[in-house]
Amino acid sequence: MYQVIIIGGGLGGLLTAILLSRAGISTLVIERKIYPFHKVCGEYISNEVTPYLRSIGLFPWEFSPPKIDRLQISSSSGKINEIELPLGGFGISRFRLDHFWYLKALESGVKFELDTSVSSTLYKNGITRVLTQQGTSFEAQVVIGAFGKRSLMDKYLDRPFMKAKSGYVGIKYHIKYPWDPGLIALYGFDHGYCGISMVEEEKLNLCYLSNRSNLRVHGDIDSLEKNVLNQNPFLAPILASAERLFTKPLVINEISFASKKVVENHILMIGDAAGMITPLCGNGMAMAIHSAKILAPRVTRFFQQNSNKWKKTIERSGSQNSLVVF
Ligand SMILES: Cc1cc2nc3c(=O)[nH]c(=O)nc-3n(C[C@H](O)[C@H](O)[C@H](O)COP(=O)(O)OP(=O)(O)OC[C@H]3O[C@@H](n4cnc5c(N)ncnc54)[C@H](O)[C@@H]3O)c2cc1C
Repeated sequence: MYQVIIIGGGLGGLLTAILLSRAGISTLVIERKIYPFHKVCGEYISNEVTPYLRSIGLFPWEFSPPKIDRLQISSSSGKINEIELPLGGFGISRFRLDHFWYLKALESGVKFELDTSVSSTLYKNGITRVLTQQGTSFEAQVVIGAFGKRSLMDKYLDRPFMKAKSGYVGIKYHIKYPWDPGLIALYGFDHGYCGISMVEEEKLNLCYLSNRSNLRVHGDIDSLEKNVLNQNPFLAPILASAERLFTKPLVINEISFASKKVVENHILMIGDAAGMITPLCGNGMAMAIHSAKILAPRVTRFFQQNSNKWKKTIERSGSQNSLVVF
């Protein structure tokens, strides 16, 4: 029995787990994949979270993330403009950042079940049983949904956005190309845009969002890039000569920006599982971080105020598989 189970170990889930574990709360993260792994993401993090990450020792200094303070926007008609970003941000791959926080979470005492997908939850008398596709199950008093934008759990919870067709696909890979580290560039094309900015080790992240019909009409990613992204005269030379660092691009489908309920089936949602804004804002990761920062102290307070109740729950359950008990 755990005090908290977190479904999904992206930035929101990992940060919540670290904060709870540091507060002495027994926490299990169940993550579908094995770290480190790549994710479709623009990999630009707004500096609005930098002071907070520094203050809790989670800023990824060791990867020397490039500072980004200028935004360039261009269109397929050949227009281009550049502005300062007064707040700015930094670039780091999800491959590195999620893995870095995973190691920090282990250090803080967080337990993990990796390579494991949560398929359903059953709530009874203040305890939630979390069941996985792999046939295992775990119990906790509080369950947090940090399973991102689209998950098996959304299907299980029958969340309305899963029934509505969403028209967006996201595609991402890393490249090498001569680049000014301080710049993030957004290249417009028909029914989409592509962002390029630097991450660690002078690699560039190239990530684009497009209308799904664009991909359907052109059949595959190569033809989509040749026929549509290449319309942008500033992007075409990069696509033509950049060194591609992935064997194949990562692709995600059915990205939805519909609103979502923040509590369902006794699960407290954070990050994209609670709601997603368009990636053009470049703020989804900061929002996932904020949501963890808001939720963790509240869950901590809940356990502080109910510590006797928790002790009794453990006693009742026979504490046969309890990991941390007050
Ligand atoms: C094209 C695109 C570009 C973007 N660019 C940026 C950007 O430049 N800057 C920015 O700040 N934001 C950007 N975002 C948004 C950002 O990626 C997300 O807002 C952020 O990753 C949300 O974090 P999270 O922790 O909520 O979810 P995630 O990071 O998605 O983590 C969810 C985790 O849950 C796991 N999971 C899912 N289902 C299950 C299950 N059933 N059981 C167990 N585990 C499960 C997944 O494997 C995943 O690791 C972009 C998004 C897209 C689509």
